[in-house]
Amino acid sequence: MTKSTFAMEPLAGGRFLRREVLGSPRRFLGKCRRCKRPLSALVAEIVHTGDRAYGLTDTLAIGYVNGVLEFPCNDCGAWSYVRAVAGKFSAKHVCNAKCLASKSGQCECSCGGRNHGASWAA
Ligand SMILES: [Zn+2]
Ligand SMILES: [Zn+2]
Repeated sequence: MTKSTFAMEPLAGGRFLRREVLGSPRRFLGKCRRCKRPLSALVAEIVHTGDRAYGLTDTLAIGYVNGVLEFPCNDCGAWSYVRAVAGKFSAKHVCNAKCLASKSGQCECSCGGRNHGASWAA
């Protein structure tokens, strides 16, 4: 996994917005608190504004606290938590449909966690 880069942008009132661009987009996975559907998001960037932070996916900005993102369910819209997948690169395990359909938070395969549970993203 490549390293994250940081960039600072000035805000009004002498504060700074800190952008953390993740070296490689990180997969987050969780479960809807209402309908129990698995939820998945690929986050490329985390923005810290000083008193709060949020993760950016292709389509939306979502709340980020201590490594946990708050994310609206794709089906019912209920806000639920998703956590970073603990991905470990393994060239021996070629990424496959099982990885894409996974609901657990751990991955050991050639995608290094990026595709883990990705089928739940839509
Ligand atoms: Zn739901
Ligand atoms: Zn995989």
